[in-house]
Amino acid sequence: MENLDWKNLPFGYIKTDYNVRCTYKDGKWGKMEVSDSEYINLHMACTALHYGQEAFEGMKAYRGKDGKIRLFRWDENANRLQQSAEGVLMEKVPMDIFREAIIKAVKLNEKFVPPYGTGASLYIRPMLFGSGAEVGVRPAKEYMFIVFVTPVGPYFKEGFNPVKIAIIRDSDRAAPLGTGTFKVGGNYAASLRGVIKAHNAGYGSPMYLDTKEKHYIDEIGAANFFAIKDNTYITPKSSSILASITNKSIIQLAEDLGLKVERRPIAVEELETFEEVGACGTAAVISPIGEINDLDMGKIYRYCPDGKPGKLSTKLYQTLVGIQYGDVEDKHGWITIVE
Ligand SMILES: *Cc1c(COP(=O)(O)O)cnc(C)c1O
Repeated sequence: MENLDWKNLPFGYIKTDYNVRCTYKDGKWGKMEVSDSEYINLHMACTALHYGQEAFEGMKAYRGKDGKIRLFRWDENANRLQQSAEGVLMEKVPMDIFREAIIKAVKLNEKFVPPYGTGASLYIRPMLFGSGAEVGVRPAKEYMFIVFVTPVGPYFKEGFNPVKIAIIRDSDRAAPLGTGTFKVGGNYAASLRGVIKAHNAGYGSPMYLDTKEKHYIDEIGAANFFAIKDNTYITPKSSSILASITNKSIIQLAEDLGLKVERRPIAVEELETFEEVGACGTAAVISPIGEINDLDMGKIYRYCPDGKPGKLSTKLYQTLVGIQYGDVEDKHGWITIVE
């Protein structure tokens, strides 16, 4: 085991020993390679750099009490990377190559998988991009698939506590028929102005509304939105949000708990009526929300009057994290043990 201050790891990049790479060239995927370099040798005219042909995934490996390393729903990430590839016309990474690459990257860097009980985990970042040179606007003929890993600390150092969100109305992250449903870097570039505006106003993340009417809730930064009221779990339906695997899993757990589930457009004014609200994604699992400030409208919505996350958000969070670390029974077959 590497000697790191696991409990105080940032959510950032720390060098590990190896990464795994595979190149698509001349109409086929080549041999998987292991590299100990953090750098890639790239053609300056590659489509990733000029026309944004790039997609990525974010997932984690968790060490259980039994010392075993667990992956959570890796096939969902593999599928989504294929959809993202289709979305920006890249070559799809076959499921078996994806699986082999992530398992290899985790095993080769096993000493960086944080010990059980620290709240830390090994973040896995698979990425796919156009590495072939083109000057005209067209898809590349060559692609690189790389998987690197980095240990990350618990997303919230102070524990599971309510966060503050700012509604952003003067920039959009994705258009209704654009690439919002794909996990592509371009969406993140488009979201940066909103992220920084929220930070500068003293808020943790931006909330984006639907771009057409600015009336319905889309997403929160790189996380999906959910609300709870009258024993119902409600999450937005929109043509410009990324389908979160965490959200999909929480929906299942909510149903297991006997909650009703609604996936529908959620108008901003409805924020007034919710009992609990939160954001969900791989990084933090669930971020309970204590305040949403509609900056440009001068309206503030408040939750968690006692300063603590709501009961159902807490239950859903503990169940999902428990499954990921192997403490709660994996009824739905979501876990793959790395052997
Ligand atoms: C990755 C991502 C999410 C969260 O998805 P998970 O699969 O739960 O990690 C939500 N929104 C956006 C825009 C994302 O890129």
